[in-house]
Amino acid sequence: MENKRVYQVAKEFHISSEALISMLRDMKFETKSHMSVVDEKMFTSIKNQFDKQHDAAIKDIQKKKKITEAIRKKVLTGEEIPASKKRKKKRKRHRTDDAKIVPVAGVNKTQDLKKKERSEKKTRKSRKRRKKVDQAAVQDSFKKTMASISAGTKSKSKKSRSRQEDKKDVEDDRNIVKVSEFVSVTELATQMGIPVNTIIAQCMDLGMMVSINQRLEMDTIILLADEFGFEVEQLGEYAADILSAREINEEDEDKKETRSPVVTVMGHVDHGKTSLLDNIRNSNIAEGEAGGITQHIGAYSVVLPTGQRISFIDTPGHHAFTAMRARGAQVTDIVIIVVAADDSVMPQTIEAIDHAKAAKVPLIIAINKIDLPTADPEKIKGDLSRHDILVEDWGGPYQCQEISAKKGINIDKLLEKVMLEAEMLELKADSSKRAAGVIIDSKLDKGLGPLATVLIQSGTLRIGVYFIAGMVYGRVRAMLDENGNRVEETYPSIPVQIFGMDGIPKAGDKFYTFDTESEAKEIVQKRRLMKREQDFRRLKPITLSDIYDRIKDGEIQDLNLIIKADVDGSLEALSDSLTQIIHDEVRIKIILQGVGGINENDILLASASGAIVIGFHVHPTAVARALAESEGVEIRHYDIIYEVIDSVKKALGGLLKPTLTEKIVGTAEVRDIFKIPKVGNIAGCYVTSGVIKRSSKARLIRDNIDILSSTVSTLKRFKEDVNEVSQGYECGISIDSFNDIRVGDNIEIIEILQEARTI
Ligand code: GDP
Repeated sequence: MENKRVYQVAKEFHISSEALISMLRDMKFETKSHMSVVDEKMFTSIKNQFDKQHDAAIKDIQKKKKITEAIRKKVLTGEEIPASKKRKKKRKRHRTDDAKIVPVAGVNKTQDLKKKERSEKKTRKSRKRRKKVDQAAVQDSFKKTMASISAGTKSKSKKSRSRQEDKKDVEDDRNIVKVSEFVSVTELATQMGIPVNTIIAQCMDLGMMVSINQRLEMDTIILLADEFGFEVEQLGEYAADILSAREINEEDEDKKETRSPVVTVMGHVDHGKTSLLDNIRNSNIAEGEAGGITQHIGAYSVVLPTGQRISFIDTPGHHAFTAMRARGAQVTDIVIIVVAADDSVMPQTIEAIDHAKAAKVPLIIAINKIDLPTADPEKIKGDLSRHDILVEDWGGPYQCQEISAKKGINIDKLLEKVMLEAEMLELKADSSKRAAGVIIDSKLDKGLGPLATVLIQSGTLRIGVYFIAGMVYGRVRAMLDENGNRVEETYPSIPVQIFGMDGIPKAGDKFYTFDTESEAKEIVQKRRLMKREQDFRRLKPITLSDIYDRIKDGEIQDLNLIIKADVDGSLEALSDSLTQIIHDEVRIKIILQGVGGINENDILLASASGAIVIGFHVHPTAVARALAESEGVEIRHYDIIYEVIDSVKKALGGLLKPTLTEKIVGTAEVRDIFKIPKVGNIAGCYVTSGVIKRSSKARLIRDNIDILSSTVSTLKRFKEDVNEVSQGYECGISIDSFNDIRVGDNIEIIEILQEARTI
C-alpha cells in the first residue's frame, strides 16, 4: 500500500483529521499533524478498530432487536413482561410519548394474525409521527437553548439567582445532558451514562456510521439524547460555562455599586432614531470635548447635567439588538421605542416592541416630531394601546415622552425617564473584580490593525491585561473613548475601543480578561480548533476546480456567480457571454453584478448562496478578503473576458488545468511621494500586512481598481537598499516602468502558486 497522509485516511473513514490523530495516539502511534504519514501497520490498526466498533454495534442492534421482538411477542400473546424489560419500555415510552413501539392496552390472547399486522401498521404510523415529534423537539430545544444562553449573560441579582436556583432544582429532576456542539460520541455516552456501543448502534439505527471519537452536530446530539430520554442543554463556546460561572463567582454582592444604564433606540425607519441618538450625543458633550473628533465606535456614553451617566448603543434598530441576543449577549437595560407623531405605529414599531418584550427589557415610548403641525401624539397613544402598550397618562405602566429630536424639545425629560426606569431596575455591578463584558463593534483599521468596542459589564478593564473575545485573544495595548481620548481604565456600562488583538471579534462575543497570556491563548486555540472541525463538516465552499466533481455527484444544479467589474461595458459583455454558456446539467446563474471593488456584502452574499466571486479588473477590500478567507469563498481575478469564459467552460467540463492561484504575501499603503532626480518617483509606504520583497510581482490598486501589474524595482529602508520589509515598517518603493504612483494607492505583492488538480 502506498503511504497516505492522516487527512487522506481521515477522509476515507469520514472522520476529521483531529479525531483520527487522537485515535492513532490512543493506539500509541506517534502522530504529529494531519500531514503525518499513515503507514500500512497504522492503516490496518485503524481499519481493525473501525471493524471492531462496527461489529460491536451490529451485535448491539441484534440484541436490541431480539429484546423488542420478545416484548412484541409477549404483548401480542398477553404474557407478562419481565420487570427489567418493562422498565426499559417505560423509559422508551417516556421519551417518545406517542411513539410507543407496541400498543399495550386492550390486547388479549385470542388475537389472530390480522391483529399483528394491524399493530405493525400502527407502529409504522407512530414512527412517522415520531419523526414529526422529533422535529418539534429540536425546535423546542433550540428555543430553550437560545433562551438559556441569553438568560445566562445577565449579571445576576440575589433575587434572580435564587429564582434560578429554584428552577435548577426542578430541572435536576429531569434528565438533562449539558453539552457543547461537536462533543464526541464517547463524551456524549459518558455524560448520559450509556455504553458507547449503544450510542453507535443507535446512530446506525438512525442511518449514521459514527466512530467513538467522532464529533457530533447539535441536531444529531438532540436526536440521540432524545432516544435515551435526555434533554439537551446546549453550552456555548468552549469554556463559556466555566467563564460565566467564574464571572458570577468573583462578584461580591457587598461590593456592588450602582452602574449606569445601557440604552438601545429602536423603531420604524425614518421615525427619528438616528436624529435622537445624534441629538443626545451632541447636546451632552462634556466641556472641552466640543469641536473634538467624535468617532462612531458602536456605543457612546453621556453625562447628564445631574452628573448621572447613560450609555447608548449607537446602532439604531432591532437588527443589531437581536443579532447580539442571538449570540447570547444581552447588553441593553432599557429600550427607547421611537414613534413619529405625524405617522402611526408601523410594522417595525411593533417588531421592535416585540423584541424588547422577548428580551424582557423595559421600554420607554418616545413620540417624536411633535414640532410638526401634523403631529398627533394622542392618535399614537391610541394606536399603541391597540397593541397592548398602554402609556402612563392612559393609565398604563409604560413611560412615554413627547419629543422633537430635530429641534431638541423635551430630550432632557426623556433622559430623566430613562434614569427613573434605571433606578427601578437597581442596576448594579462589582467594579473591583477583573473585567468581563461584550463586544459591541469591531473593525480592521489599515494602520492600527484590529479594533473592537467593548462594553464592560462587570469589573474594571485596565491597559495591559490579557483577554479573549470569541475566537480572538490579545492584550489591551490602548483604550480610546468615543471622543478619541486615551483612557487608562474603564468601568461597567462605559464603552471603549481597544487595541491589541490578533483578529477581529464579532459583535456579541463575550469578553473575558485573564492574568496570564497562556490562559487566554489556550482557550482561544481550543475554540479555533473546534471551529476548524466545524468548518470541516459544514462548509462546503465551491471552487471552480472542484465544480466538475460536484456536478458528477449531482450536488450542483446552479453555478452561482457574483461578478464585479471596473466599468459597466465589460460587466454587460461578461454577463452576456457567461449566460450563453450552455451545459446539460448546470445552469449559470448570475446572482449579482455590479461596478466597483469587491466588498464585504458581496462575500456575505457569495457565502450564503454558495457563489464564486469573479473580479474583472477589480479587487476585494482588505476586509472582504479576510472575510472570503474565513467564509471559504473563492474570489477569482481576471483581466480578459475570454479567460473568464474559458475557465468557467473548463470547470464545467472538468478540464481545469493545474490552477494558478495568486497569493498576496504583502500589502503596503502609499503615504508620501518623493521625487528623486534620475530615479523617478519613490513611494513612501507603510507595510500594512505581510512582507514586501524586492523584484517581486506587484500590483497597484487605486480605489479598489486595478491600475497595473508590474514588479518592485526599488525597495529602500531609509537610504539603504533592502531585500524585504515587514509589516508595521515604513519603506520606499518604486514600481518598474511606472511613475504615476499617488498617495492613497495600495501595493500588493503577489506570488503565483501552481496547484495541481487532485481528484
Ligand atoms: P431613522 O431612520 O429612524 O434613524 O430616522 P432619522 O433620524 O434618519 O430621521 C428621518 C427623518 O426625519 C430625517 O429627515 C430627520 O431630519 C427627520 N426628523 C427626525 N426627527 C425629527 C423631528 O423631531 N422633527 C422633524 N420635523 N423631523 C425629524
